[in-house]
Amino acid sequence: MTSIKVKIMNVKNAPPAFHVLGKPTGAICNLDCKYCFFLSKEMLYPGSRFRMADDLLETYIKQLIESQRVPEVNIAWQGGEPTLMGLDFFKRTVELAEKYKKPGQNILHTMQTNGTKLDDEWCAFFKEHDFLIGLSVDGTKEMHDTYRVNKGGAGSFDQVMRGLDYLKKHGVEFNILCTVHAANAEYPLEVYRFFRDELGAHYIQFIPIIERVDETILPLANVGWSDRDGGERPLYLQTGNLVTKRSVGREQYGRFLNTIFDEWVQRDVGEIYVQLFDVTLGSWINQPSLCVFAPTCGNALALEHNGDLYACDHYVEPDYLLGNIQETHMIELVASDQQRKFGRDKLDTLPQYCLDCEVRFACHGGCPKNRFTNTPDGEPGLNYLCPSYKLFFKHVAKPMGIMANLLRQQRAPAEIMKLYARGEAPQAVTADYSQTGRNEPCPCGSGKKFKNCHGRH
Ligand code: SF4
Ligand code: SF4
Repeated sequence: MTSIKVKIMNVKNAPPAFHVLGKPTGAICNLDCKYCFFLSKEMLYPGSRFRMADDLLETYIKQLIESQRVPEVNIAWQGGEPTLMGLDFFKRTVELAEKYKKPGQNILHTMQTNGTKLDDEWCAFFKEHDFLIGLSVDGTKEMHDTYRVNKGGAGSFDQVMRGLDYLKKHGVEFNILCTVHAANAEYPLEVYRFFRDELGAHYIQFIPIIERVDETILPLANVGWSDRDGGERPLYLQTGNLVTKRSVGREQYGRFLNTIFDEWVQRDVGEIYVQLFDVTLGSWINQPSLCVFAPTCGNALALEHNGDLYACDHYVEPDYLLGNIQETHMIELVASDQQRKFGRDKLDTLPQYCLDCEVRFACHGGCPKNRFTNTPDGEPGLNYLCPSYKLFFKHVAKPMGIMANLLRQQRAPAEIMKLYARGEAPQAVTADYSQTGRNEPCPCGSGKKFKNCHGRH
């Protein structure tokens, strides 16, 4: 283990907490999902074995735990496919976490997996150590198998369902991660009801697929990002202003969310947790909880299998490499000017169109990785998903306002369903902020005048 001593309290600009996605196999995966641009990141480490070594694992766990000045530390694994490391790697992780955790600290273990390798042994281990498992499923078999295929090109749905059965058999908590793309975006209710009614999911995340490319690599990218028998293969970088044919449409994602929201808000609040709906409610009560919809970011990093720390999981590319944790303590990299600037740029580079936007308090321009379109007056830096965000945040404004008020009164947001049942809640209709006078109450439900509230949540 590399021992680098740092007085955490003395590190200037160090955040009290941050999140790291550990990639113990780098980009290596047993599947070959067509939209998974991360597969191409294998090209950043030619000749590597793509396995996190034991001494690096210990360095990582030690640094991560000692850097956090909050009671809960999340040790989060993703890939590639982390289960390819084998179970012993994760047993060692749990052992090391116990060795280094500070008095009063609680460790939360999480893993994002494609589920195909899960069996009794894995799931008994997850249950014993309270792992929270994120399972990638894109909807029904037909939708899922369109892009989530194995190395031979066959769909992975049946294997994933077998993995889910093991998770359920052992009572492991799971979260469905569903990417939204060309093959499922037109079927929001089928997708949502499948997760809720067929899979018995209580936690669901919807993640838009936006594969950004320029015209030179578009034809290759449309084929996919994996290695293909000596054929030409593109490396995914955040450049270009085109998207692949698999990507969700600019408004399509918003329509997808709105349809699901209308069903959820009338029957599932408090039972089914859809991450984006929760995060949006957080914005309505001035507590943004997801980097994508926070004013600034920079506290969600990615660690490669060799100790290289990157600014974000979406920016694992040379320009965003902060350093290696075997040479420089993680907290110094997280607090570095380069990383703090990365986080501030999210706010500092907002186009005027966003600064003037009526739903900026909930959107904050979205993730910088998707800001590659122009505003109506030609300013660059507008989010590809802006039309979706406007659709969604306006559509949910009234019910969100009601739920936010319930929360402020320390009542359960789920009470909104009673209002709907009695026909007393407004339908989730578009809130027209343009009609809101500056001295009128803000439609977000905060109770403040619009002029004092708008954009300042
Ligand atoms: S770049 Fe996007 S995903 Fe990464 S930390 Fe910032 S907002 Fe979050
Ligand atoms: S909805 Fe569009 S204009 Fe408004 S803040 Fe978001 S990205 Fe910017």
